[in-house]
Amino acid sequence: MIEQGFVYSGNPARVVFGFGTTAALPEEMARLGTRRALILTTPAQEDAGQKLADLLGEAAVGVFPGAVMHTPVDVSDLAADRARQIKADVVVAIGGGSTTGLGKAIALRTGLPQIVLPTTYAGSEMTPILGETSGGQKRTQTTAKVLPQVVIYDVDHTMGLPVALSGTSGINAIAHAVEALYAREANPVISLMAAEGIGALARSLPAIAQDPANRKARADALYGAWLCGICLGSVGMALHHKLCHTLGGSFDLPHAEAHTLILPHALAYNAPAAPEAMARLRAVLGADPALALFDLGRAVGAPASLAALGMPADGIARAVDLALSNPYWNPRPLERDALTALIQRAHAGAPPLAA
Ligand code: NAD
Repeated sequence: MIEQGFVYSGNPARVVFGFGTTAALPEEMARLGTRRALILTTPAQEDAGQKLADLLGEAAVGVFPGAVMHTPVDVSDLAADRARQIKADVVVAIGGGSTTGLGKAIALRTGLPQIVLPTTYAGSEMTPILGETSGGQKRTQTTAKVLPQVVIYDVDHTMGLPVALSGTSGINAIAHAVEALYAREANPVISLMAAEGIGALARSLPAIAQDPANRKARADALYGAWLCGICLGSVGMALHHKLCHTLGGSFDLPHAEAHTLILPHALAYNAPAAPEAMARLRAVLGADPALALFDLGRAVGAPASLAALGMPADGIARAVDLALSNPYWNPRPLERDALTALIQRAHAGAPPLAA
């Protein structure tokens, strides 16, 4: 990779990481020169938003507990209007990818800076990507205008993340880093982060499944999720992400679970074309990285197959057609028969083909 040359561009963000780091929020607002925060949450996490409002006192001018999945445009318009009405000068998002998405959408509409306190392993806070939905259509854009200025990773906020969501959202994060290792734009800095992030998550997720209150494992997982989020935000994704978007969109499969089931097979497919990535993965996952990821899904109690997620067997041919149309760049050319076998195995819950 190095001898072939590369381009690396880092996204600017200030990161504060640890237990109890939420206490730094007032100081971080002051560093940005802001004094009027609009706090964002989902309806389920309104209490967490209220706690931030209590911490900020007069510097909290509103709580908007209306973040929902898929960042619908009408919700974002409403929230941006609210931000203008109450003269907010910063948005503070506490939650997972859905809440972060709302913060990004407000930033796009108003130019306001963002402080994000992530509570899942989704990693959206590290990417310049915003997917918005309107009339059932999803439109994704990449723009630096949606990058948060400050991210406060407070491990305490992840201690209660349900075990099932912890496992699949963590493996979803691993998928970003795996594809970053063989991305067209792969570069040595992102590859370092990818390997480190995968190792941290692969170690910690089974420990969290055993004991969700394991503080060291929770810290490692959030650290890994941060690194994997940087990977997603820095280089292009390939076959695995294309398959997951196709399956999610066409068969309404849950996002993180679909990622968990496809990843071992997508990696086994790409392995022969990505020797450098495989060498890095062997260093953190062992001799057979695709099988290790398959076993990791089992260890965190993820669903066993695409069939178990509700995908019909007669959908496999359509999924292959869709994956072949408008493909993302991929290290190995897309071959219909091999792709069919890949989805069949994931559908049946079979282990990945040996590399
Ligand atoms: P989410 O934000 O939709 O949260 C799911 C549910 O879990 C919500 O009800 C939320 O309130 C709750 N929750 C979150 N953290 C919790 C915690 N610690 N304890 C208890 N409950 C908690 O889920 P997500 O997986 O974080 O995000 C998924 C969304 O983010 C998807 O729409 C995905 O497309 C998007 N995403 C975007 C990017 C990007 O770069 N733009 C990256 C990753 C994900």
